[in-house]
Amino acid sequence: MPTVEVPEYKILDRVEVDPRRTALVIVDMQNDFVNPEGALSVRSAPDTIHACKRLLDFARREHLGVFYTQDTHTDGDPEFEIWPKHVVKGTWGWEIVPDLRPEPGELVLEKARYDGFYGTALDHEIRRRGIDTLIICGTVANICVHYTAASAGLRWLRVIHPVDAVSALTEFDMHAALRQASWLFQALLTRSTGITAKAASPTA
Ligand code: ZN
Repeated sequence: MPTVEVPEYKILDRVEVDPRRTALVIVDMQNDFVNPEGALSVRSAPDTIHACKRLLDFARREHLGVFYTQDTHTDGDPEFEIWPKHVVKGTWGWEIVPDLRPEPGELVLEKARYDGFYGTALDHEIRRRGIDTLIICGTVANICVHYTAASAGLRWLRVIHPVDAVSALTEFDMHAALRQASWLFQALLTRSTGITAKAASPTA
């Protein structure tokens, strides 16, 4: 196989967001993907729980919108021809990991495919709330995280990826996803510690 160099992409020390126009999207942090006992576990995913929780605490403190995508399948789902059976609705594997459990008022969007916008209320909720920026974290970097971020980018939403809160099956997948997002739709890459809230401007 050829050896290729990863084109350089920049990870910013700090990204400032306007809390009124920003939402956090936590992608598929469910037991089947995150717990080592899960049906389709991503080895590096448990290491990102802490960073996802930091973002969640930030979002709750600053009153950002909070959305969770929850990959959801039922028996006979065509995705089981591509992947082993996973996140069957109602099972333990389908549940969001306890450390990131949603609170009332935070919207959980069940989705059937990789894109968090496809067949869900995400687009509607974002428009309704006047949101133009999404902080997107979770798993898997080049699959559901990427296709949700790409879908946001195609809608001209600003995408921020905190890289320590994203996990992938391989190092290649992680680099490929981050490079593509930052290059193609100018996603901003930073770390979970690098996101700060812009102070509200005084109203007239
Ligand atoms: Zn799936």
